[in-house]
Amino acid sequence: MATEPKQPGRLIVISGPSGSGKSTLTRIGLERTGLHLSLSATTRQPGPNETDGKDYHFISRQKFEEMIAADEFLEYAQVFDNYYGTPVGPLNKKLAEGQNVILEIDIQGGLQVFKRFPDAQGILILSPDMKELQNRLEKRARDDAETIKKRLAKAEWEIQTAQQSGHYKHILINDNLKKAAEELVDILEGRS
Ligand code: ADP
Ligand code: 5GP
Repeated sequence: MATEPKQPGRLIVISGPSGSGKSTLTRIGLERTGLHLSLSATTRQPGPNETDGKDYHFISRQKFEEMIAADEFLEYAQVFDNYYGTPVGPLNKKLAEGQNVILEIDIQGGLQVFKRFPDAQGILILSPDMKELQNRLEKRARDDAETIKKRLAKAEWEIQTAQQSGHYKHILINDNLKKAAEELVDILEGRS
């Protein structure tokens, strides 16, 4: 008996300044929904609580550049002196299986994705204000002071660019984590 062709999955792009709480919220969103997270590749060093193959594929610059040359990324961007990218093979496979997939990627990457997938759903995560953003980056204790300065300097540009693009239809202020997580789950499950 012939099987029905599967409806392809949909793509959800979650972006926001570093420290706004994307990873925290995405993790909760994944636990509460059946969505799949695309695992990115990066040339940055793993942080103390990060594992290769779970948080990222941590790869060398040379390997990353070989993958660019072989057209193996849906999108990639240079963020804070390192490359980050979405491997296209595993993503296409999940979408073809009918799985809805979350990409947790920066704004530059998000804009590349919206060019190829105009129907992708964009969610922008923001912290209540810049002071709180700084507090969270410091509390996370992953980056040195210089890196935190760079991350803060880039945040305003990112917020403006995302809003002007018109693709991030959902803007989620991550003030109270519990409330923000509920809002995110509502968006992911199509209730808002
Ligand atoms: P991002 O992935 O956007 O860089 P993280 O998810 O790593 O951000 O969050 C940055 C820091 O802020 C982490 O230490 C996290 O525990 C904390 N955090 C996330 N959401 C909140 C919140 N609503 N209130 C307070 N701290 C938060
Ligand atoms: P971090 O170093 O904090 O893990 O990530 C830095 C930034 O890179 C974040 O904005 C994160 O969303 C983004 N990022 C993570 N993976 C990808 C990816 O595959 N592509 C792009 N363009 N950005 C990514």
